[in-house]
Amino acid sequence: MYVDRDYPEFSWSNSRHKTFLECVRKYYHQYYEAHNGWLYDAPEENKSAYRLKNIKNIPILLGDLIHKAIDLQLKNILNGKPLFTEDEMIALVTRGLNNAYLDSTKFRPMWLQKPKRHQMLYEIYYGDGLSKDAIAAAKTKLEACIKHFFLSKTYQEILNKLEMRVLYSEDFQTFEVNGVDVFVVLDFIYQDVSREKWIVVDWKTGKESEDDRKQLALYSLYLSREHKIPIEDIIIRNEYLLSGNFQEYHLTQFEIDSAQQLMNDSIYHMLKYQEDPVKNKPLGKEYFEMNPSKKCSYCNFKEKCQKN
Ligand code: SF4
Repeated sequence: MYVDRDYPEFSWSNSRHKTFLECVRKYYHQYYEAHNGWLYDAPEENKSAYRLKNIKNIPILLGDLIHKAIDLQLKNILNGKPLFTEDEMIALVTRGLNNAYLDSTKFRPMWLQKPKRHQMLYEIYYGDGLSKDAIAAAKTKLEACIKHFFLSKTYQEILNKLEMRVLYSEDFQTFEVNGVDVFVVLDFIYQDVSREKWIVVDWKTGKESEDDRKQLALYSLYLSREHKIPIEDIIIRNEYLLSGNFQEYHLTQFEIDSAQQLMNDSIYHMLKYQEDPVKNKPLGKEYFEMNPSKKCSYCNFKEKCQKN
């Protein structure tokens, strides 16, 4: 239920942690200044932070749209509905990209008013538009990801009617750690009944990265805490849709304890930026240091820093 608040509720997520490490000023814009920026009578700095926060570049938007299309397909299977073909899924995602292009160009005034309902593309807002190369790269990536989704181990297991129990399909999940709400995004979780194992599937549309494994400990922590599933029964599977590879991991208690320690440390440092911990009122913007780096060139909030 939506509650009108002067300040956002404090919560923790892996992406919040990454933003905090990257640049504390960016963290301020994203997690404090953008709050209430959706209100008609909000101050302009809050409105602009909210607009900028919702801008997406093509790779991010493409990843989101592919995740949504996969989620729809999985729900179609679970609900006994007709399934999309590969071409239909590609067309669905392409429509989403085309709509984002129209929102960013022809319907820009509507985006200015409702930045969550209409999409602004980073390449158009801050750049010269979409190059032919960018469009061709997005098309190639989309076709590869959808093709590999259809061939993926997870999809094949579902189609082959492996005896399974499904727990979730793409939703935000929250659990509480030391009084703080922690958000995790779980793409798909099912139990392989014959093996008595729980499989957590993470669809990846980017390249394989060292960082992938770190996120996984949070998923295991969530399942063991909220669903009382023993850690040794949890398998985490990264499905790399770009390459068609997958990786499976069994995490140890030590890795999960380390993840919890990292979370505690991260929360401890974030809380230092509160003026009023009860309300989660932040210190003044000047306390949130800018951290200029090469990442500034693709930061959503760079126009705010350029004005300083
Ligand atoms: S442009 Fe750079 S300094 Fe400014 S908020 Fe973004 S990352 Fe931080």
